[in-house]
Amino acid sequence: MKRSEFLARCGAAAGVAALATGTVFGQETAAERGGSTMARFGDVVIPPEKQGKEKHVPHIEAPSKVKAGEPFEVTVIVGKEIAHPNTIAHHIKWIQLYAKEEGKPVAHVATIDLGPTYAAPRVTLPVMLTKSSTLYALEYCSLHGVWDNSVEVAVE
Ligand code: FE
Repeated sequence: MKRSEFLARCGAAAGVAALATGTVFGQETAAERGGSTMARFGDVVIPPEKQGKEKHVPHIEAPSKVKAGEPFEVTVIVGKEIAHPNTIAHHIKWIQLYAKEEGKPVAHVATIDLGPTYAAPRVTLPVMLTKSSTLYALEYCSLHGVWDNSVEVAVE
């Protein structure tokens, strides 16, 4: 066997083996990286420093300390700094609130669906916590997407 033929066969065999294991030369597969290559919803949530933040980042008003199991009020306001438009074509469609205790999955607290023109993007919700948590607010603008914010609430 000629050397060039040998190398070609070795290369082909290595290529087949690589394909069988999902390895591409010099690149890790998604499984090897331990992650997924699929698009994640979190990727489209707009960070609070982006242009338009004054009208979109949900402002969360909540006490920094509460008593375990006692209801308290959380107010979420969209457009606190600069009022957001409120027309059929451009308005805040919904506001959601979630709570997450350390080491536990995130829990849905409430979803408020808002109609344009008549509903102001400002909601006050009764919340009860048993352990210190992070509260996450999400809002959806019909033109500018999903924005988020969070606050910590300590439970005594
Ligand atoms: Fe908007």
